[in-house]
Amino acid sequence: MKAAVFREHGPIDNLEIAEMPTPTPGPGEVLVRVRAVALNHLDLFTREGLPGLKLELPHIGGCDIAGEIEALGVGVEGWHEGQHVVINPSLWCGRCEFCLAGEESLCVRFRILGEHVRGGAAQYVVVPATNLFAIPDEYPFEQAAAAPLVFATAWRSLITQGQLRAGQSVLILGAGGGVATAAIQIAKLAGATVYAASRDEAKRRRARELGADVVLDSNEDFGREIWTLTNKRGVDVVLENVGAATWERSLRSVVKGGRVVVFGATSGPMVQIDLRQVFWKQYAIIGATMSNRREFNTVMRLIFWERKLQPVVDRVLPLDQIREAHRILEAAEQFGKLVLVP
Ligand code: ZN
Repeated sequence: MKAAVFREHGPIDNLEIAEMPTPTPGPGEVLVRVRAVALNHLDLFTREGLPGLKLELPHIGGCDIAGEIEALGVGVEGWHEGQHVVINPSLWCGRCEFCLAGEESLCVRFRILGEHVRGGAAQYVVVPATNLFAIPDEYPFEQAAAAPLVFATAWRSLITQGQLRAGQSVLILGAGGGVATAAIQIAKLAGATVYAASRDEAKRRRARELGADVVLDSNEDFGREIWTLTNKRGVDVVLENVGAATWERSLRSVVKGGRVVVFGATSGPMVQIDLRQVFWKQYAIIGATMSNRREFNTVMRLIFWERKLQPVVDRVLPLDQIREAHRILEAAEQFGKLVLVP
């Protein structure tokens, strides 16, 4: 099969299209014919190399996959060949205390498709049948592939970890990113007031079209603006994935007793915290990564079967243009997801 691979960690030029063996599904697994695969920041981090991440090379990235079931492994029931699916990109052991409690993203052996194991930037991928989610036949694959990671992450971050409720307010940073485009919609569906910040004027305009009530320029002191706009109160939830570049202003934006949910650190992971602010304002700093199965299935149902949420696709490219797709994402030129078609 054709696949986008890298043979060693490093820059974009390490990516190439190569012939790789088509994988075979083992017991409990399915072979999926990939019809579309979306890029995420983790594809960039995996290509560059992460401390402690040991991969079988050449590596195939890609965790956001939509496609058709091609073949079923031994013991797989309830699925049929030709069925249209998206894939839950989280991989869990099913045996540890967290899995047994239904908290798969806390699994002690937690891995992500396309990061720790070969992913779907290829014509075929093998995944556990428990990771499949059925989608309607008429739903476009290119749009479907843009859904799994960002909507699952945004749902867990806002609804579970952030406890966002109707009538509350949320600040969403990096408004052009995939998770932000999901989070704006989820927060509106939950009945919250949405403040969205971006450095880029065009992205602020699109965030507004997507439902954000107020857009802010993150080149400016948005902490002060939030303070003014909320009558010196602050927002109930801040959704942080930018990290070093926005951290101090994010903490200034949260209400006393509020929640700062961190699900990424794209501008850098090291920040300072004034502990006096933490105990005086009594806010919580909460982490979020991916989702558990219940959250994944809930938000996928809202997208594919209730049509209350819409994956946002920036553009669709052939898989051959994977270098260009990495370049666009690295330069943050996109609004929403970059989708590749093998
Ligand atoms: Zn586990």
